[in-house]
Amino acid sequence: MKISFKPIPQFRLIVIMAIFFGLFSNQSFFLNVVKVYPLTIHNIFFVISLFFILVSFIVIIFSLFSFKYTIKPMFIIVLLISSFTSYFMQTYNVVIDDGMIRNSLQTNLNESLDLFSIKLVLYVIFLGVIPSIYIYKQQIEFYTFRKEFFIRLKVIAVSLAVIIVLLLSFSKFYTSFFREHKPLRYYTNPTYWIYSIGNYIYKTSKNGPVVVKTIGENAKIVENEEIEPKELVILVVGEAARADRFSLNGYARETNPLLSKENDLVSLQNMHSCGTSTAVSVPCMFSIFGKEDYDYDKGISTQNVLDVLVNTGSVDILWRDNNSDSKGVALRVPYEDYKTPDKNTICDTECRDEGMLVGLDKYIDSHKSRDILIVLHMMGNHGPAYYKRYTKEFEKFKPVCNTNQLEECSAETIGNAYDNAILYTDYFLSKVIKLLKSYDKTHEAAMFYISDHGESLGESGLYLHGLPYFMAPDFQTHVASAIWFGEGMKEDINMTKLKGYTNKYFTHDNIFHSLLGLFEVDTALYVPEKDILYNVKIPE
Ligand SMILES: [Zn+2]
Repeated sequence: MKISFKPIPQFRLIVIMAIFFGLFSNQSFFLNVVKVYPLTIHNIFFVISLFFILVSFIVIIFSLFSFKYTIKPMFIIVLLISSFTSYFMQTYNVVIDDGMIRNSLQTNLNESLDLFSIKLVLYVIFLGVIPSIYIYKQQIEFYTFRKEFFIRLKVIAVSLAVIIVLLLSFSKFYTSFFREHKPLRYYTNPTYWIYSIGNYIYKTSKNGPVVVKTIGENAKIVENEEIEPKELVILVVGEAARADRFSLNGYARETNPLLSKENDLVSLQNMHSCGTSTAVSVPCMFSIFGKEDYDYDKGISTQNVLDVLVNTGSVDILWRDNNSDSKGVALRVPYEDYKTPDKNTICDTECRDEGMLVGLDKYIDSHKSRDILIVLHMMGNHGPAYYKRYTKEFEKFKPVCNTNQLEECSAETIGNAYDNAILYTDYFLSKVIKLLKSYDKTHEAAMFYISDHGESLGESGLYLHGLPYFMAPDFQTHVASAIWFGEGMKEDINMTKLKGYTNKYFTHDNIFHSLLGLFEVDTALYVPEKDILYNVKIPE
């Protein structure tokens, strides 16, 4: 079939495309706008003016980058990417900021497949592929350089004039729109993701090749080698586990049937994350920088707490990962990938967290004479396909939402699947404790569990996680965390006092110093006030 279109001038096509984006790629934006400005007589003209401002703004952006050889590739790329962003914004109410871009670039294929759906295919076909074919086929008319230049100026000037006139006519509305409802802009398409990509590239490239700064070079472990048994610590990094879904923390459903039987386990109920995504929280919790100072560049270019422990020369570290990867944390320590059956011996529809425990006894036995830190990075409650995160015997709460199309499910079935995944985490952590108990005679054993971020399960129409921190609800930042001590370690800890910490406010900032404290590392980097355990240690 041969389709041909009458040639159209470049700038007419730009206006058509801007209207297309305004109408079809911004449902998410306008839905969020009318939440704040309901469509009353009072607001309706303002909302309409927003449409014209958005279209004019998109026209200006396109006009700046549109030339004979760039216009088609530009439109096709923007159409295809926007069809994806429209889908995710519309389906999960997320925003595409630079953090989200970093997070999606670090996501592996399996996790991406979890997000696959027929609806996504339809979005990509109707908002991406079909319009791209049109762009590809459409003949575009170009005038002389001089004429194009003046048309370009005219188009930009008219668009600017439209924006200015509308801003002034609705100045009261726009003052509140820009000052009080700043996040609404994050939902515009394709403008915000284009800005975010620029921001991401700027942040990632400004430093050139990464040179890792050494910290804690002179760190030493002070202990009486002769009498004290070696330490064995398992740090479990959880995934998307909300504090309020642990029955240990008062959740009405029994989601911690096994952990609640552990007398020496203390749930840190008031723990808060550094970021709202794995890509921020995981490197941040191991970093010397607190939430206020942490950013991606500083994190990746400075050694973390694992390096400091290695620098002591006394601690052996092993990182096993059943999540995406260590987000740069374990680059300089032994790392094992448990996402595929190559290593993981417990895989059915997917590889299970439990598989990370297989063979750990061999590792521990062969490192007997040294302190050991094992980090287990869980798949945990990774969404949106919570129903895939556990095996049949953990399907205690029913019926479950068994699609990644969360908006098609009731809040109840989403919650059921999510809680079943928490049940699996409860089982996994109890197995970690069981393993550690078998080393009670020979080691000072401890488990420290902490989730990377929380999760929205449909509250206020929000799903998943990753909203910019300042606008993220508590559900995305108030995370599950617990600490357990074996007999040997307990002798050094005032457990009664520690149990009084259940409601004490802690954050990921505490982890760096708590690990140094746990291993009794002597270093100038250590800040006792930030060590969760500093005040519960029994002086020797
Ligand atoms: Zn995560």
